[in-house]
Amino acid sequence: MLLTGLLDDAKCYDMVRQMRWPEKVRCPRCGSDSISKQGHDAKQPQRQNYCCKPCQHYFDDLSETIFAGRHQSLPVWIGCLYLMGLNLSNRQVAHELGLHEDDAQRMCEQLRAGIVAAAQPQQKLSGEVELDEAYVVAGHKGQPDEVKKRGAPRAHAGSKAHQDARRWPKISPRFSG
Ligand SMILES: [Zn+2]
Repeated sequence: MLLTGLLDDAKCYDMVRQMRWPEKVRCPRCGSDSISKQGHDAKQPQRQNYCCKPCQHYFDDLSETIFAGRHQSLPVWIGCLYLMGLNLSNRQVAHELGLHEDDAQRMCEQLRAGIVAAAQPQQKLSGEVELDEAYVVAGHKGQPDEVKKRGAPRAHAGSKAHQDARRWPKISPRFSG
């Protein structure tokens, strides 16, 4: 039994939505909360599509997060994040998720690149990532340093680093579902 078989697709999407938009869904381009739902993704039925009414920007639950445009399903990513929190090696992560070790290594690297330490932003993360001490930076496609260097790419992105960094809910080791 693989861990990802125990992770519910709907709950993973719920978790990402809660993390990104604790109150209301907001347009990642202009920040408006005047959003209409546009059905679900054809291949991933839990993935909600949206359209921003003021700026007509189309986006979905994963747009501009580190999970967007990935080959692996969201439960695999969430499972990977969970196992990283247990300080498993890439090899163990691969085994638990039924992945090739190379793929698991790449995913762990991408997740680490998208996670910045909450308490000490300057401190470089080493191999250990404490999930409940970490932020996942949405919208930076795993390149938080680039964003810091360049600053806000769009007018409305104001305090974007702060807005976009959402605290991960602590992932409980007990799977209740
Ligand atoms: Zn908009």
